[in-house]
Amino acid sequence: MLERSIDLMAIAPTENMTYLLGFHTHPDERPCFLFLTAQSEAMLVPELNAADAQQRTDLPMETYADSDGPGAALQRVLEYLSVGGVKGLAIDDTMRADFAMLLLERFPNAAPVRASSVLTPLRMRKDAGELYVIRANAGTADEAMLAAFAAIESGASERTVARAVRDAFEGQGVTSVNFAIIGAGPNGAYPHHATGDRRMEIGDAVVIDIGARMDNYNSDITRMAVIGEPSDELKKVHGIVDQAVEAALAAAVPGARAREVDAAARGTIAAAGYGEAFVHRTGHGLGVTGHEPPYITSTNDEKLEAGMVFSIEPGIYLPGRFGIRLEEIVVLTDHGPEVLSALPRTWHRVRA
Ligand code: ZN
Ligand code: ZN
Repeated sequence: MLERSIDLMAIAPTENMTYLLGFHTHPDERPCFLFLTAQSEAMLVPELNAADAQQRTDLPMETYADSDGPGAALQRVLEYLSVGGVKGLAIDDTMRADFAMLLLERFPNAAPVRASSVLTPLRMRKDAGELYVIRANAGTADEAMLAAFAAIESGASERTVARAVRDAFEGQGVTSVNFAIIGAGPNGAYPHHATGDRRMEIGDAVVIDIGARMDNYNSDITRMAVIGEPSDELKKVHGIVDQAVEAALAAAVPGARAREVDAAARGTIAAAGYGEAFVHRTGHGLGVTGHEPPYITSTNDEKLEAGMVFSIEPGIYLPGRFGIRLEEIVVLTDHGPEVLSALPRTWHRVRA
């Protein structure tokens, strides 16, 4: 904050607050902030949520009643923090616009910047405790993937398989199931297919992309199933996507740029003639949010470092026919990427 001349950072009840405090207060329309200066920190919390927050943090806290509104309490917090004229005001990128407007009105002379300018470099580099949780959550996702495999059969709907995934995650005590994308047959060609009522047929390739949240961190994995024998084309395309994953893994070493990892995957798919069908970036970081820096795109110059966690998830999508994506979450170590899933990327074959 000092290097960037930030006098005051304002964090709302978002995952940025989770990252800094280990929890976030109940998010609603009542203004609520964690304020930080380079020297100290304090919170503004609506009165009805204060007791709950005080169980989880001993940070100084000013509160306000609904009938009074936040104005006077906000003034008291700022006085406690000895914040006078704020110029460098860092605003939580993901806070509500009405919260941001309140701050901009309170500090009309401030030059607002994104809090991510300070937080992203921290959040990208996971510490040992974070890595422990992320590894454990990857195991949870593997179990849920096995439940998806078990639920897939000819005649089963996408929704039925998604329910099996949810049940398997919830049986392991997750906080929430973030998504269960089940894309069967032609639906697999939509990278973020809205899981629906389609019933699976013999010959269908099924994209299974699932993730959940536990202990404030997220999981994310994609595997492929097929009902009956995969066609020669399915086998070929699956093999190309798997080679793209391997190429990206080989390129993901400390010091490599994110775009070089993307280029490794993209180059493999392009060389096989399917470049146009790989319609998204190769990957994204994973932490207290499901998508975060570092983004593994063709344009990101960011240098990768040990301690970063990100996905490698190339795909080939053939509209009206099928899609194939394979996704690994990796922890970058000094020796290269550590793949967190214990599941092979081979087809899960369901007997027709
Ligand atoms: Zn995914
Ligand atoms: Zn992902």
